[in-house]
Amino acid sequence: MQLYLCDNHLPDFDEISFEDFSLAQWEELLVAARVDCLMLYGKDHWGWSYYDTKVGQRHPKLSFDLFAETVRMLRRNGIRLMTYYSIGFDNLMATTRDDWALRKADGRKHRIGRETYPKWHSCCFHTGYRDYCKAQVRELLEAHRADFLFLDIIKHGGYTGFGQDNLPLCYCPACEKKFRQRYGMDIPRAADDVARFRRVVQDWEMNVLDYEMVDEITSLAESIQPGIPVMFNETVHFAQRARNRMNAHFSEGRYGSWRTAAMSRLQRRALHYGRSVISCHPTVTAYDVSPVGPSALAAAQVAAWDCDPFLMHGPQDSRGRIDTNSLKGVGRAFADLARMDELLENRQPIDEVRILESDRQRLLDPANHSGPVLAAIDFLTYSKYPFGLIREEDLDGLAASGARALIVPRATWLTEDEAQAVRRFVRDGGLLVCGEDFTLGRCTGREGPLDPLAMGEDFLLADVMGVSFVRRDDTYRHNRWGGYLRVGEHPMWKSMRDTTPPLMPPCYEVTLRPGATCEADHLRPSIAMAMDRWVNWFPPPPGRELSDGPAVVLNRYGKGTCLYFAAPYVEPNDGSPGAEALDWPRRFFNDMLETLLPAPAVRLHSDCPELVDATYYRRDGEVIVHCLNKAAAHAGDGAAPVKAGRLVLTGPLANAASAVMVPSGRELAIRREGDSLVVDVPEIAVHELVHLRLRDGCP
Ligand SMILES: [Zn+2]
Repeated sequence: MQLYLCDNHLPDFDEISFEDFSLAQWEELLVAARVDCLMLYGKDHWGWSYYDTKVGQRHPKLSFDLFAETVRMLRRNGIRLMTYYSIGFDNLMATTRDDWALRKADGRKHRIGRETYPKWHSCCFHTGYRDYCKAQVRELLEAHRADFLFLDIIKHGGYTGFGQDNLPLCYCPACEKKFRQRYGMDIPRAADDVARFRRVVQDWEMNVLDYEMVDEITSLAESIQPGIPVMFNETVHFAQRARNRMNAHFSEGRYGSWRTAAMSRLQRRALHYGRSVISCHPTVTAYDVSPVGPSALAAAQVAAWDCDPFLMHGPQDSRGRIDTNSLKGVGRAFADLARMDELLENRQPIDEVRILESDRQRLLDPANHSGPVLAAIDFLTYSKYPFGLIREEDLDGLAASGARALIVPRATWLTEDEAQAVRRFVRDGGLLVCGEDFTLGRCTGREGPLDPLAMGEDFLLADVMGVSFVRRDDTYRHNRWGGYLRVGEHPMWKSMRDTTPPLMPPCYEVTLRPGATCEADHLRPSIAMAMDRWVNWFPPPPGRELSDGPAVVLNRYGKGTCLYFAAPYVEPNDGSPGAEALDWPRRFFNDMLETLLPAPAVRLHSDCPELVDATYYRRDGEVIVHCLNKAAAHAGDGAAPVKAGRLVLTGPLANAASAVMVPSGRELAIRREGDSLVVDVPEIAVHELVHLRLRDGCP
């Protein structure tokens, strides 16, 4: 499904009118752009409604029921309706109803803090505003059956840091009263207090602010229109409880289309709509002659992760007319996808490698949550191993899921049961890659908001990891690089034998347990940086001293293996000033997987692993490989085709009878090399599928 939103929140200024609004123009453009579903404003950020409302206020410049007219046009063309409703931002209500406004700690009304543009005010859902929103949602759904309901600006951002600007904690009298009743204390005001009362703030946001909104709106919508998929923006940033209450998922591509979609496919399939919708970044720019490459690639990246691409921009002029060129750009971005529709759905991901995205880390240590997860996604993407994500709640089924490796970017707290599931996975032959304080925390999963964070004496999985915890060493906390690896002879280090790869601080001092081997030492920096101690422009180079204890440890456990890093090993390279992007981790991940996890079921070997990406799926008797060319983002309207590479299938998949490229229809030769099947995949422009049919009788 391809979705679109004309993202024009229009004020009631003198300059604004709808006198040139043309439904016929809309109809022509949407059909030509191959839009399957239109997101349509019920109420926008200004607080104006676009339908005949008895509860709210219709946009003052609108002389007709724009919502109803548009819905009739959509139905005529078989285009689905996603009803949009802005909850967090409602400038009208926040400025006219003082008791409904979201209040900052100093008591003033909150508005988003952009310097020059959008400065909408927010409303608090825990006031009478709640009934106002629910009454409008009821009006909208009773008037027009919706294929989807979408709620915007709802994620509160204290514990994830996400959404802080849009919807921070509210200090209105209603919230103050409710908070005091629940926790016997005032809402923390100082930043230090928010950190100190992390669990309290987390409980408030997760179980009250987020959950109540999700639960009440979903229940209301389902009571009016049973089975309706209800989407709340930014699903990937919600904690488990609210997320599990959602019956459909939607996220904006804030981590880029590829990474956001990768995180979204992790979601357990939602009850009423199984695919996540991802808003593409970058998108088509309104009024520009946007080249097709970047937006076509973004839409392809979303589809490659089994999600639905969503494009939006603001092409509506002050008199209501649409910029024709802009919507043509949307059509060009969707063109390829329309030609491979049939192979994009009803398929199961092949993900032999799983990245653990820890919900508990998100809640208890948000600064160390998404960065390491995104870095792990980047490294696995580079390796072209088939991978996906997993959360704690699904660890129990890890072994049965067909996974062969578990990569843990950062997970300090696992329950005994979750740790036991990981232990079982390794004992039965799985590969575990972890680091830092993995399982050093203690939790039962049933902690109350006033319980402190607890740490143990040793790692819960010390037996599996082959190391015991001694202490965390923060000596080099001001150094950009907290140490260097002096690597051993293991083939996983083959790309970095001639150097000493840097590690971020801190360093963990651990001792080897019997049977475990040290695969790299930790070389200390020459000095610990301080205000009056530095070396030159660069981070202090390696000194001569080794840290006490190993830096990287390999341990056999049962039939499986654990690789442990005594320092951060999946730090994000976000390209910010002073944060040099390191290349060695992704090269290491590639070499490490080839050494410790040979013969994946399917893998694309590319000569340009930086440019070519791939995802892999199974269907009855079929394998579908999605190949993408990132150079398309820089090819403008032209093409920069890149040879995809050598596709290698092993085990049960080494049985393909035919391989065809979709949509180009090119037939590919298949040859046998030892126990594997090899298919040379030729040049691709933006993206193509390799569709393999297995011989009869293959599952
Ligand atoms: Zn409030």
